[in-house]
Amino acid sequence: MKGDDNPMSKAHAAPRCTATSKRTGERCKGPSVKGWSVCRFHGAGGGHRSGKDHPTWKHGMRSGDWTEERQMLSELVREAREIEQLLRD
Ligand SMILES: [Zn+2]
Repeated sequence: MKGDDNPMSKAHAAPRCTATSKRTGERCKGPSVKGWSVCRFHGAGGGHRSGKDHPTWKHGMRSGDWTEERQMLSELVREAREIEQLLRD
């Protein structure tokens, strides 16, 4: 086995990830994935596609949930206004 035949030397030779840390403001030091400008940690590869092929795809129910939440919210606002009216009299 050759001395430089370890996976890390390959990783260090790879181009760097272009992502920047929001917390530190420093550039990510991770090696970018082949064909990507970012490392795996910052979204490269991963194997999941967006939309229906994504494992967390909610079958379009998310918009329905949102409608329900908005209805509850507007109901709360209406109740608050009614209470306000009662207090005014
Ligand atoms: Zn990165």
